Amino acid sequence: MSLPIVAIIGRPNVGKSTFVNRLAGDQQAIVHDEPGITRDRTYRPAFWQDREFQVVDTGGLVFDDDTEFLPLIRQQAMAALAEASMAIFVVDGQAGVTAGDREIAQWLRQQQVPVLLAVNKCESIERGAIQAAEFWELGLGEPYPISAIHGSGTGELLDDAIEHLPSVDELEDNEEIKVAIVGRPNVGKSSLLNALTGEQRAIVSPVSGTTRDAIDMVVTRQDKTYRLIDTAGIRRKKNVDYGAEFFSINRAFKAIRRADVVLFVLDVLDGVTEQDLKLAGRIIDEGKATIIVLNKWDAVDKDSGTIYEYQRQIMSRLYFMEWAETIFVSALSGKRVDKILDAVDKAYEEYRRRVSTSVINEVLEDAVSWHSPPTSRQGKQGKIYYGTQVSSQPPTIALFVNDPKRFNDNYRRYIDRQFREQLGFTGTPVRLLWRGKKVRDLERGTNRATKV
Ligand code: GDP
Ligand code: GDP
Repeated sequence: MSLPIVAIIGRPNVGKSTFVNRLAGDQQAIVHDEPGITRDRTYRPAFWQDREFQVVDTGGLVFDDDTEFLPLIRQQAMAALAEASMAIFVVDGQAGVTAGDREIAQWLRQQQVPVLLAVNKCESIERGAIQAAEFWELGLGEPYPISAIHGSGTGELLDDAIEHLPSVDELEDNEEIKVAIVGRPNVGKSSLLNALTGEQRAIVSPVSGTTRDAIDMVVTRQDKTYRLIDTAGIRRKKNVDYGAEFFSINRAFKAIRRADVVLFVLDVLDGVTEQDLKLAGRIIDEGKATIIVLNKWDAVDKDSGTIYEYQRQIMSRLYFMEWAETIFVSALSGKRVDKILDAVDKAYEEYRRRVSTSVINEVLEDAVSWHSPPTSRQGKQGKIYYGTQVSSQPPTIALFVNDPKRFNDNYRRYIDRQFREQLGFTGTPVRLLWRGKKVRDLERGTNRATKV
């Protein structure tokens, strides 16, 4: 469940940053780091009463100016609004209504997002009420007099603001765990799909906007819903005429991309082949939670040690997935197949887990005490200032350091292992972003969006 977003909108200098700082306190900025999506907006976690949300400051919105970078700010504001549950429009009560305010108000009225109007800089109670009243003319309902600096009025504003956020139930209800069943031809994907859905009443649901024949199956178990992705792609096989291999791998890549959790199916009789490694590499690149399903276990002659021997051999090839749970199953007999969705639940939870900044920094401090960062030949030592989790799905932790180049692969792997050992994250990849940060930036604090 991702937190609802509150967009803060307004002209420059009305006090948006001051207001955001008041809401978010000293909580760290969340820098969304999604490859391929340019996002300069800074999200900061905040809460009021028992509701958690993220605030995004959209930068000063100006309409009547054609300076070069303004369209960009406007675009950012629009993008922020598009994903927001509500907006708070901040105006300057001391300046009174300006033409810029009118334009923003008109634009906001056309958007499908609830808006509350905060009239800032209203420190004085009597004058504030009069100053605020002037803003009725914007047609956005009752103006709330506030002072972002002193905090007065912000409580009433937030009491009403959280009423507009989607309820926690709403957020959880429409949650589906997207699961892709992926593997080479003949490892038993279709058999596994049958075993998983056989007893259940699976609802086949075509996916809108994707290729014509991508078909998902929706399975419910207890109170959870699983969307099994592109099951048509699993069933359509032995299509030798079309070059089954090429076709299926691209289809698998697409399914991986859409998934939260990947069931990576292997044939235990074959072990880990080159093709399996190729798929594994893609799963890692996409950063998906993963369960390694070792199928056809019924066909193996076993004694008490066999499972460990198989486990060891397979994981020595898939060492870069050592965090993933392995399950030996027989899709044919159905044996242990019921363990798979339990593992999916666990992996999904870890995939979305958030760890507080203080815990992350405890782990870091400890790690550095045991083993200090490398020192270059010139005697310059790597220094880790702090770390913070910047996103989940998969968990992504930014480490702010003096110079990323001073941290070699060995040390990076060491820090990686420390996070695993201390924080678990079983079933999900964890990304570490090594970011250079100047001391000057640190002193200025994180009030402003710092591009790192
Ligand atoms: P932004 O450009 O909208 O992010 O505005 P800032 O938060 O940077 O504030 C602009 C100026 O307004 C700064 O000088 C702030 O100190 C001042 N300011 C912000 N909030 C208040 C307030 O509640 N009362 C008064 N009097 N000044 C404020
Ligand atoms: P897919 O191409 O990955 O969808 O694989 P299929 O589900 O079509 O299975 C390929 C072959 O492996 C079929 O002949 C299945 O009967 C066989 N198979 C699948 N699962 C198992 C299993 O658990 N044990 C055994 N012994 N054979 C299996």
